[in-house]
Amino acid sequence: MLEKIEHIGIAVKDLEKSEALFNALLNQTPYKREVVESESVQTVFYQSGPNKIELLQALAPESAIAKYIDKKGEGIHHIAFAVDDIVAELARLKDAGFQLIHETPKEGADGKLIAFLHPKDTNGVLIELCMDKNK
Ligand code: ZN
Repeated sequence: MLEKIEHIGIAVKDLEKSEALFNALLNQTPYKREVVESESVQTVFYQSGPNKIELLQALAPESAIAKYIDKKGEGIHHIAFAVDDIVAELARLKDAGFQLIHETPKEGADGKLIAFLHPKDTNGVLIELCMDKNK
């Protein structure tokens, strides 16, 4: 089951500048910063009520975030839903005809197992499923 929007991922060019902006917007500092080597991204996370905001900056030109910004500019990159059983959800969505970017979950930031659905099946919106690793 897709339980709730867990976080919204925002692609940014200059994390330092964006952090200053979101610090002012949300009146707080990030609770976490983390490099995800497999994706070549630097991330920071803010808590906003029950949801989170993830800022993502590319660390290499071949990073998906760098490619996204080249094509579409900065902005909302993905919406992540919390799921109770990511393997079961991926199977359900595949059966329902959704194209999966990741057939099996992988390690994401913030202590999560994650997987993405292809945006061509979801009105151009990149959807992430995420599940707490120590669940
Ligand atoms: Zn995310």
